[in-house]
Order: sequence, then structure tokens, then C-alpha cells
Amino acid sequence: MADPQLLSNVRALVGRQYGRVYAWDEVNAPMIRQWCEVMGVDNPLYTEPAFALGTQHEGLIAPPAMLQVWTMEGLHANNYPPGSTDENPYEVLKEMEAYGYASTVAVNSELSFTRPVRLGEKLYYTTRLDSVGDEKTTALGTGFFVTLVMSHFVEKAGGDEPVGELLFRVFKFRAANAQAPAKVESTPVKVKRSLPGISDDTRFFWEGCDKGQLLIQRCTACQTLRHPPAPVCIECHSFDWDTLQASGRATLYSFVVMHYPEVPPFDYPNPIGLIELEEGVRLIAGLIGIEREQLQIGQRLQVEFQTFDDQLTLPLFRPVEA
Ligand code: ZN
Repeated sequence: MADPQLLSNVRALVGRQYGRVYAWDEVNAPMIRQWCEVMGVDNPLYTEPAFALGTQHEGLIAPPAMLQVWTMEGLHANNYPPGSTDENPYEVLKEMEAYGYASTVAVNSELSFTRPVRLGEKLYYTTRLDSVGDEKTTALGTGFFVTLVMSHFVEKAGGDEPVGELLFRVFKFRAANAQAPAKVESTPVKVKRSLPGISDDTRFFWEGCDKGQLLIQRCTACQTLRHPPAPVCIECHSFDWDTLQASGRATLYSFVVMHYPEVPPFDYPNPIGLIELEEGVRLIAGLIGIEREQLQIGQRLQVEFQTFDDQLTLPLFRPVEA
């Protein structure tokens, strides 16, 4: 049963309207063109002025699905134009977190449109906490469906005009297998690393790791190296291959740092590299012995093998002096 105080706090928020968030830029052709390119949309109504002029719209319009794009903050979180609200429409989720409903999963996002938006128009949206359902138990856990509606408008001298809405629903829950920390008495179960699926194509790689060797597949017909392993040479289509033992010297081609969700048994933050071996192929592997702030594209790395749970040996990469 949900805490009555929580229910009362939540009910007090339902229906609340949050202030405006403004668009940085007016609706413009370059953003539309780039969006269409990225999304693979080739409707001339969005990108060819002469064509658009001859339609009922009498000029270019933005693809309706771009509605949310115009008011986005950009690369940096919460970087909204001056005049935008600093209220947090997700405050109800914080309230639930304080009562132990720590997990969030998005369940629906629905766009609806009132009219097309045109070049030169400037948008803003307001958010309404539309509803919070009764406490429900699903396979994920027990919690609440929370629905927010962002109403988008175009600023007009004679009165702003609604152009569309975005409904966004999340399930805010206490995970089914989560135990309250106070109740945990026994030693925690040690979660093991998941094992790779091994096939005839990949077995050599894992057997190499067991022996402390980083093996790369090599086409014996044309000598092309390939990774990840595959049955056929991408260059000459030969099925014949052997392996080359890599030196283990490499550079950091790119990386990500996993922060959330924290999945056992990994340590967080968890840096993962796209590693370029000096032989020329790339592989993905964990990075060790380095802090997030020190990671640099292009830095020199050296392979190091570590065995986990007495059964899985993985190649990891550690920074070395240039
Ligand atoms: Zn080949």
C-alpha cells in the first residue's frame, strides 16, 4: 500500500501547469533540411520552396514530427532561452523517489498536431501534470503511471496559437526484486559476469584470451584482418582464415562512460573503449587504471588480461606512456 502522505502530496500536484519553455530559434529551413536528411525523409514539402509554394500550405512547413525539436535545450542539459521557466515538471517523480519508488521507465510518447508550423514561427510549450494513476503492480514492480502533457504554441501578436501536444507517460516504481536496505542481512549474492555466446567463428578468440593472447582473424587468401570474427572475408569472400597474435599495443579511438543504470557486477563509472589495435582493426573492451577525466582520444593503451569468476578471461586496456 502506498503511503497516505505520498498520495496526498501527489494529488496536490495533479493538474498543475508549469511555465513556458521557449525555443532558441524560429522554425528554419536549415534545421528542417538536416532533420529530414538524418531521418531519411524526402518529402519536397519540407525542403523545396518552389514545390511547397504550389501546395495548399503555400510555402515550406516543418515535418509535424519535429514538433519537440524546436524547443529542445541543445547539447547542455537545462540550457533554455531567457524567459523560460525554471520549474521542474518532473517534481512529482522526486516526491515518489523520496518514498522509495526509485526506478523510472518511459511507457508512451504520443504526438498530436493541431496545424503545421511554418518558417519564421517561434514556438514555446507549457507542461501539465495530467494524471497519476492508482498504485499498480506490474512485472517490473509496484508504482504509478505518471502522465505529462506538453502543449506547444506559436507566438502571435493577436493571440498565441496551439500547434500540437506531446503526451509523455512514465512508470515510476519500486523494482520487484528490490529490497529495502534495512532488511538486507545476509551477505549479498555475488553476480557473475555474463559469459559470451561462443560459436565456431568466435571460439579461437576466447581460447586465445584464456592463454593471454589477443588473436585477430586473418584471411589466408588476401591477408585482410577482421574483427569482430566472421565466417567470410569482406574483401575477397574467401572462407579460409587463420589468426594473427596482436601485439596488444593500441590507441583509444573512442569511448563511452557508463554511469546509469548501475548493473552488477560492474564498477561505476564504467569506461568502455573502442580500441584501435596497431595492426589496424578495432575492438570494444573495458578500460582500466584510468579516471574519466583523464581519458583522451588517441592515447596509447596496452592490453592486459583479467580472469573473472574463475571462468572468463577478458582483454582489458590500460593507458601506457606514449
Ligand atoms: Zn580475403
